[in-house]
Amino acid sequence: MGSEAVKVVVRCRPLNGREKGLGCRTVVSMEVRHSQCFIQKPGASDEPPKQFTFDGAYFTEQTTEQMYNEIAYSLVEGVTEGYNGTIFAYGQTGSGKSYTMQGVTEPAAQKGVIPRAFDHIFESIQIYNEEVRDLLGSDPKQKMELKEHPERGVYVRELSLHAVHSVGECERVMEQGWRNRSVGYTLMNKDSSHEESGGDRLRAGKLNLVDLAGSERQSKTGATGERLREATKINLSLSALGNVISALVDGRSRHVPYRDSKLTRLLQDSLGGNTRTLMVACLSPADNNYEESLSTLRYADRAK
Ligand code: ADP
Repeated sequence: MGSEAVKVVVRCRPLNGREKGLGCRTVVSMEVRHSQCFIQKPGASDEPPKQFTFDGAYFTEQTTEQMYNEIAYSLVEGVTEGYNGTIFAYGQTGSGKSYTMQGVTEPAAQKGVIPRAFDHIFESIQIYNEEVRDLLGSDPKQKMELKEHPERGVYVRELSLHAVHSVGECERVMEQGWRNRSVGYTLMNKDSSHEESGGDRLRAGKLNLVDLAGSERQSKTGATGERLREATKINLSLSALGNVISALVDGRSRHVPYRDSKLTRLLQDSLGGNTRTLMVACLSPADNNYEESLSTLRYADRAK
């Protein structure tokens, strides 16, 4: 692997009902213990399969739980320690990106990366002095009550809600919270009987969890007009992302082309620098997706 800061794993979903109905064959295989993935060109059994090695390989029966524990856990742990982290899923539509990132509730082992990361982060955050305050409420000094709702679970009673429509608005709300936090913090130190030594307890890490748009090429989708324009823009973002990651992994290129797309500009401070990145390349096992799967494997291979 080129760099500790970028990790790439590959995940292959099982054949679905439609593919089975069409009599599709499986062209993807893995040597899970060696993080290897193989793909066999359909109708070319005399050719050896193409082979790729990643930081992890997850085949049809492996779970998101396994993947999270083996590879995502340490990245998210880093975020609680103040590093930035980005996890994104890449692959054609229907390859399992949302299944991986958002996941399902049943079976529990297939709960997605996003809810797992949330659980993980909130488990690690300590509530100051066991007191909860709403930093965006009308009185940030007010101690809030925790309640339990039979369906919604545990929640904070009378927590204020703030609608945001843009990153800018979101940032303003965050800043307001930060300002109120310091007010509350001084106050809390005043009325606690023993002052905490060690000063600054503030840690900030940013975690980006990205479920990317499908990577399929337009030739196959047969898109025209508005859909084609949309697909072209998506492909521009995805190839710009690939270029940024390979420039980062390469380490020698002085120019990292963040400015080539809106996606990479948006993720700029979440790619490179003190950021750890995990890419999950998702594959369909079916022979009729061979070209797309091969292009996903090549994209992933470039990123490591
Ligand atoms: P994408 O987000 O890439 O378009 P989805 O995550 O929606 O693809 O997956 C397509 C279908 O395949 C869904 O019905 C999903 O439940 C199923 N699927 C994906 N990955 C797996 C997996 N690892 N195990 C079982 N089913 C899966």
